[in-house]
Amino acid sequence: MTKGNINVSVENIFPLIKKFLYSDHEIFLRELISNATDATLKLKHLTSIGEAKVEYGNPKIEVKIDKENKKLHIIDQGIGMTGEEVEKYINQVAFSGAEEFLEKYKDSAKDSGIIGHFGLGFYSAFMVAEKVEIISKSYKDEPAVHWVCDGSPEFTLEETTAKTDRGTEIILHIAEDSTEFLEDFRIRELLTKYNKFMPVPIKFGTKKETLPLPEGAAEDAVAETVDVDNIINNPTPAWTKAPSELKDEDYKSFYHELYPMQFEEPLFNIHLNVDYPFNLTGILYFPKLSNNLNIEKDKIQLYQNQVFVTDEVKGIVPDFLMLLRGVIDSPDIPLNVSRSYLQADGAVKKISSYITKKVADKMVSLINENREDYEKKWNDIKIVIEYGMISEEKFFEKSDKFALYPTSEGKYFLWNELEEKIKPIQTDKDGNLVILYATNADEQHSYIQPAKDKGYEVLLLDSPIVPHLIQKLETSKEKIQFARVDADHINNLIKKDEPVISKLNETEKESLKKTVEESINDKKFTVQLEDLDSTDAPFTITQPEFMRRMKDM
Ligand code: ADP
Ligand code: MG
Repeated sequence: MTKGNINVSVENIFPLIKKFLYSDHEIFLRELISNATDATLKLKHLTSIGEAKVEYGNPKIEVKIDKENKKLHIIDQGIGMTGEEVEKYINQVAFSGAEEFLEKYKDSAKDSGIIGHFGLGFYSAFMVAEKVEIISKSYKDEPAVHWVCDGSPEFTLEETTAKTDRGTEIILHIAEDSTEFLEDFRIRELLTKYNKFMPVPIKFGTKKETLPLPEGAAEDAVAETVDVDNIINNPTPAWTKAPSELKDEDYKSFYHELYPMQFEEPLFNIHLNVDYPFNLTGILYFPKLSNNLNIEKDKIQLYQNQVFVTDEVKGIVPDFLMLLRGVIDSPDIPLNVSRSYLQADGAVKKISSYITKKVADKMVSLINENREDYEKKWNDIKIVIEYGMISEEKFFEKSDKFALYPTSEGKYFLWNELEEKIKPIQTDKDGNLVILYATNADEQHSYIQPAKDKGYEVLLLDSPIVPHLIQKLETSKEKIQFARVDADHINNLIKKDEPVISKLNETEKESLKKTVEESINDKKFTVQLEDLDSTDAPFTITQPEFMRRMKDM
């Protein structure tokens, strides 16, 4: 028998990291800016607890393209690294300085917003660069250092006098196959996608700004324009603030900041804010949806400490909430892992059920605060609520408090109100409540009217998932039965105190029925002779309830 250690050499691992660690090459920039942000936040923390005795100032991160020399620079004013630290943090693949920092400053730093996790982010630079340089000067009084590596496991590290100010500059020598990352528009696109709400200001180029004219300036005075930093991000997006700091207007303007191409106003928002048993913040918006299930664009965005992770949130938020918009930010959502991992992740499951509960609570408070307004919005939100009711048991259980059942006349009932209202006359001989509904007010008008004339309430349930909703209600609630107004068993369902006296005798009835049947000549329909005393129509053409529903499914 032989025993030994499997020899994992860096030569073998390096190409693997380059190729497979991230499926998307473009995320290198997100990773490097995350590191620059961490370096800045660490300095902020160390100065705040008095461990770093330097001026924190107003640090920013700069991204610069040097197209001519095929270089991309990422420059920060954070804590920097000493030579020893470069050896420790950079030369050791998969050693995370971020985790070490959080471990060391446990309690005080737990809300510092540090992003890093796995100690692999830095190496994503080699997905797009053939050579990477680090020039860094620590906040500690030590010489600056210069590290160079061409993607092989060999590197050089030496002291340098070239950098005198604190912080780190990463220089990527962009590889032949990645020159897209030397294009202005491409970098701008990436910064907007991943870094739009990161907590440290990010400069990309400059822009012109017109200075206001001085007081009392001559009429023909020309305003002066100056170059100012072009900051691409909003370091304090609405979801990072306390709900008490925000007005309705702030929520709306953040919505448009999030979806610049979306011109419609959201109906309302839900501010999420938990710190136990997991951390999560965010704002969800109910858009005006109507019966529109098109959710291809403007999806919910997932962030980790203000870094964009993905807008493919399937499996993370419950399906029905994918109809909403907004952001969810949680440090517990891992940045770098695959979708299937995310779905199996315990933290993610808890997040999902928390959000469901929070949305249900919000609905209850909305309807209680202003029932009239809620009713007005119902048509635009019902699809989300109904979808939630059929797909999430916990949501269904609470839905009696906020799910509305509108009638064809524009009244809105909560479930128990509806029961109370129809109990006296819409009960069949077995004591089941019979709930009449229509799915299309115009098409089924000739059935709705006679039912109304008889004093029945007719619900108008017209969203595309109504057949499923009805099924859910019938299987979950006791002694109820739905019947579409044009279904054939309606008259049998409802208890009648007095027998109906028809104006036609049996022979006349038979022949009328036969004549109508022959003229419609379609076996799918049933001709039903009406109780002629209570309606003008001598007969109605109906279909079995199950066929009505099948068509809708
Ligand atoms: P992680 O961010 O998950 O810790 P990375 O591979 O992205 O891992 O980075 C490794 C470590 O290198 C960081 O934790 C940090 O200690 C150090 N580092 C990387 N970039 C910088 C930077 N711009 N300034 C200071 N330290 C940095
Ligand atoms: Mg990192």
